[in-house]
Amino acid sequence: MTSRTRFSDRTRFTGRTALVTGAGSGIGRTIALALAAEGAQVVVAGRRREPLDETVRLVEEAGGGKALAVTADVTSAADVEALVAAAVDRFGSLDVAVNNAGVFRGGAPLAELSEDDWQTQLDINVTGVFLALRAEIRQMRTQPTGGAIVNIASTFGAHTRHPGAAAYSATKAAVSVLTRGAALDHIRDGVRINAVSPGAVETPMSLRPGETTTDRAERAAATLPLGRISTTSEIAAAVLYLTSDDASSVVGTDLVVDSGATA
Ligand code: NAP
Repeated sequence: MTSRTRFSDRTRFTGRTALVTGAGSGIGRTIALALAAEGAQVVVAGRRREPLDETVRLVEEAGGGKALAVTADVTSAADVEALVAAAVDRFGSLDVAVNNAGVFRGGAPLAELSEDDWQTQLDINVTGVFLALRAEIRQMRTQPTGGAIVNIASTFGAHTRHPGAAAYSATKAAVSVLTRGAALDHIRDGVRINAVSPGAVETPMSLRPGETTTDRAERAAATLPLGRISTTSEIAAAVLYLTSDDASSVVGTDLVVDSGATA
């Protein structure tokens, strides 16, 4: 018998509706699959239709869970409001939201960063989280059972510093701080808000320029206390904990999942 948690053995989200932004790939897709495996009906959002449809297909294939794909750009208040409305129209409530959409435009020192790359990261990583949070909270606070939200920040923000990532780090530090402030503002409305800060995770975003996955594994073996980077399932497990009733008194925390990098 294995001691590892299998999401499908648990039913913490049965009957709940969960929204995940950036769910057409990487961490967001795994979070959506994990929530569905524990009984949630999931609404998956992103800008491109095709990867979202694939996430829906994977949810259905994994166990017949219900999933709805909605194209939305998190930098648009209208898109995000329509996204929340679509979730409620289809499933009747919004119980869980995971604001995961984010981009990294870095690598070069700050003096070489273009205004476009600066603005894009601010727009998606910070304004996008603000707009999504606002729309989600406005819905959840009308519900007798409230709701739970997790924002995906990063250890690169409030927890550690890396060359070539100053702007991205600034946006992710903002997500950590925004999370705590919003959590205080809305816990008495029945909306519980937390963050997860991943370290390096097994998606292309953690590859350095020119690096292969083998190079990355060797770098992790040499530098990380755990000797490897995190899987997307390990990030999803943290998100599911924080959005479940298991964490019913956890408010405004920023849970680091980083293979010990900031220990
Ligand atoms: P990813 O595969 O590139 O996922 C990002 C997702 O966000 C994509 O599906 C993308 O889909 C969506 N997205 C981007 N801009 C958007 C917008 N304006 N509106 C709506 N959706 C948008 O990367 P990932 O590694 O899974 O990262 C997910 C989150 O984890 C990000 O917030 C990232 O900063 C954070 N993170 C990642 C790592 C890591 O090592 N991978 C570490 C720490 C934190 P579309 O392009 O179709 O919109």
